Amino acid sequence: MSGPATSHDHQVVVIGSGPAGLTAALYTARANLAPLVIEGVEAGGQLMLTTMVENWPGYRDGILGPDLMTELRAQAERFGAQIIQGDVASLDLSARPFRIQLGKVTHTAQALIIATGASAKWLDLGVDKQLSGRGVSTCATCDGFFFRGKHVAVVGGGDTAMEEAIYLAKLASHVTVIHRRDTLRASKVMQDKALNDPKISFIWNTAVTDIKDVTKGEVSSLALTNLQTGAVSDLPVDGVFIAIGHIPNTHLVVGQLDLDDAGYIKTHDGPRTNIPGVFAAGDVQDHIYRQAVTAAGSGCMAAMDAERFLSGVGH
Ligand code: NAP
Repeated sequence: MSGPATSHDHQVVVIGSGPAGLTAALYTARANLAPLVIEGVEAGGQLMLTTMVENWPGYRDGILGPDLMTELRAQAERFGAQIIQGDVASLDLSARPFRIQLGKVTHTAQALIIATGASAKWLDLGVDKQLSGRGVSTCATCDGFFFRGKHVAVVGGGDTAMEEAIYLAKLASHVTVIHRRDTLRASKVMQDKALNDPKISFIWNTAVTDIKDVTKGEVSSLALTNLQTGAVSDLPVDGVFIAIGHIPNTHLVVGQLDLDDAGYIKTHDGPRTNIPGVFAAGDVQDHIYRQAVTAAGSGCMAAMDAERFLSGVGH
């Protein structure tokens, strides 16, 4: 049944419900701005895809990623943040209040915080997502610790892959980098570090075609295909880190906000975008640090700047 089109006005709307979005919601809620948080299909963000988070300050024994997000969400709601689900169809940032279209409902916002994150690229094997958190990971800083003394693979040839491999080499017994070409895309300095690390070896011109063993719910080996010769082989590993890039979730703001060459929102003076009153926080504007705690920090900054902005324009 379809209802009539409606409109709801808000002082602050936060789009995204990862650590950046929920921290922005917490701060703006505590500032009596009654934020509306719109969480998308990947509610809770990338932490929902991880298991134990051991580098979120304050939990000496770690906390499960989904549990952390449940706590953050409840904390924001406790102070009055309203959280609704839905995929934003379009955003109109041409004038204030900004207009957010969600199905037939239009939400308007005097200040907008975009915290839509970035999504790690997967290999599209199906099994890689099924084994996520069970030996397949997209974040060495998050999960590397679980592979101390073990053999892990890293897929990719860019800066992220080299960074992950170098980080993992400090923990794992050995790291095998699997790259689909024979030339790395990574910067020279990162290449040199990885190529000279005795604990890192490379398999070139090779694609991962399967990850075993879904039936056991753990990673035991990778099926590989040499893209030049077609030769297939099996590489026993305890874990695999997929580092083939991230895609910032910025499709809603293309043509409205300034983006960098990789599609991330350009921010200045903290979380400010090129449109006054529109702020960006978390991975949607950060391809360097990408940590839950840095995302939360930038969400806090966005909230404080949104509050100041609203005071400045008389709200
Ligand atoms: P990237 O530069 O786009 O590299 C992605 C790598 O994954 C490439 O080697 C690519 O292979 C490979 N790849 C992509 N799709 C694949 C697939 N479906 N199957 C197998 N391999 C695939 O991404 P990134 O490494 O995440 O870096 C993103 C940006 O952040 C870059 O600008 C980078 O310089 C920057 N960054 C900098 C640092 C640093 O300076 N410390 C650290 C991390 C990231 P091809 O090479 O064949 O295309």
